Amino acid sequence: MRTFTYERPTDLEQAVALAGRSGARLLGGGTNLVDLMKLGAEEPDIVVDVSHLPLTGVVRDDHGGVDVGAMVRNSDLAADPVVRRYYPALAEALLAGASGQLRNMATTGGNLLQRTRCGYFMDVGKPCNKRDPGSGCPARNGEHRMLGVLGTSTSCIATHPSDMAVALAALDAEVDVQGPAGRRRLSLEELYLLPGDTPQVETTLRAGEVVTGIHLPPLVDGTRSTYRKVRDRASYAFAVVSTAVLVRWDGPTAVDLRIALGGVAPRPWRARTAEAVLRGTAPTTDSVVDALNAEFAAADPLPDNAFKVPLTVRLVADTLGGLAGGAR
Ligand SMILES: Cc1cc2nc3c(=O)[nH]c(=O)nc-3n(C[C@H](O)[C@H](O)[C@H](O)COP(=O)(O)OP(=O)(O)OC[C@H]3O[C@@H](n4cnc5c(N)ncnc54)[C@H](O)[C@@H]3O)c2cc1C
Ligand code: SF4
Repeated sequence: MRTFTYERPTDLEQAVALAGRSGARLLGGGTNLVDLMKLGAEEPDIVVDVSHLPLTGVVRDDHGGVDVGAMVRNSDLAADPVVRRYYPALAEALLAGASGQLRNMATTGGNLLQRTRCGYFMDVGKPCNKRDPGSGCPARNGEHRMLGVLGTSTSCIATHPSDMAVALAALDAEVDVQGPAGRRRLSLEELYLLPGDTPQVETTLRAGEVVTGIHLPPLVDGTRSTYRKVRDRASYAFAVVSTAVLVRWDGPTAVDLRIALGGVAPRPWRARTAEAVLRGTAPTTDSVVDALNAEFAAADPLPDNAFKVPLTVRLVADTLGGLAGGAR
């Protein structure tokens, strides 16, 4: 067994100082980090347990936005009345993830920063550019059914596994971090990096930076959102593909429309090409399918995951159609 030091800071300042030490890893709920440590895919020298930091609020601000502390448990966030009422896509995404027991442990910060579920990454007997830079990526020619088609590279085709992050992307949520140089607020697109030649560098977080929370911007009255997930089993399975769709209608016209995709890319993927085509129009099934196909024009599907393209296109078309009728 590999030894490591366990630290439990009592305030954020201490946590930042400890997080900046060489070989440090933060521990939220531990449902991902501890598993990876058991497999040897993560080998921290110092485990910094931030789970007891007082970052547990879900607070509505004066402008109608909501600030969520990084230590809020996934089950508590999903059950929060303000989240359920104003940000249903987020509550639905959280409830679609993992199991009740895991959601009771998993934290908001840890969910955002969880690592990919690529089987080669978790198997230390195999090469993997993300775990062991320069060792190769066996997934392209191997098992890649669950892996990505958009934003991937020849170095890595892993997907980001979080359901929650897909909803946050559609909601234009921002991530608050604190580090040695102070506080920063990042969009999800600013937080997550695409793999390029350096898949081991997954985020723009700097040494010592701790995620302290997320900010949900206010939504205009009448905005509707939902999360849909396709998975191999009815529960307790990662997304094959998923989508969070947010829309505000003026009659048949989608005056605001945001589409985020999960299970297809190394980060929650905002379908900005499709959004630009559809926003301000009265979308039909055909126009949504065409817009999503345009989004996937840049995709690099492989033999066993090419099915994700038509599956996602149909999922989004059906989801947007569902948001056109009924009350939510
Ligand atoms: C069997 C199983 C099924 C699952 N199914 C799903 C699923 O369907 N959908 C889904 O979305 N997830 C699923 N998960 C993943 C689960 O949601 C994550 O393990 C969990 O959200 C991670 O949160 P945590 O607080 O336990 O993170 P931890 O394990 O504590 O940490 C995860 C990562 O985040 C970093 N970290 C933690 N807190 C912070 C912070 N405040 N600032 C910066 N970095 C931080 C850690 O260093 C680590 O790298 C599943 C997990 C398991 C084991
Ligand atoms: S897809 Fe990425 S995580 Fe998976 S084996 Fe290749 S480099 Fe590793």
